[in-house]
Amino acid sequence: MAQFKHLKYFSHLGRTPKGKLTDFDRLSEPGHLTPLSGIYRCEGCAWEIVIDAGLKGRKLPSRHPGHDKSDGPIRWRLIVTDLPIDPVEEKELRRTYQRNKKK
Ligand SMILES: [Zn+2]
Repeated sequence: MAQFKHLKYFSHLGRTPKGKLTDFDRLSEPGHLTPLSGIYRCEGCAWEIVIDAGLKGRKLPSRHPGHDKSDGPIRWRLIVTDLPIDPVEEKELRRTYQRNKKK
């Protein structure tokens, strides 16, 4: 399970309009070329991996240690990323960061 200590470095995406999927709601098949760096979780067995998608994207792996046939198919869910967020929200986050830095 992904862990962190300092909440101030994280932004919770919050609710999205009903029916609208975010990148966190989608399940991706192995081999899917993801443009998003971050932590992905196998929905079958809860194994987590770190993906550095770089500028070209990265394929999600088709296997990983510890995944048993009885876990079902490997499908990846994005659970943490540094994806670009809403520009207004990002501006506010940067302001908060600058304020906290001075303390
Ligand atoms: Zn797995």
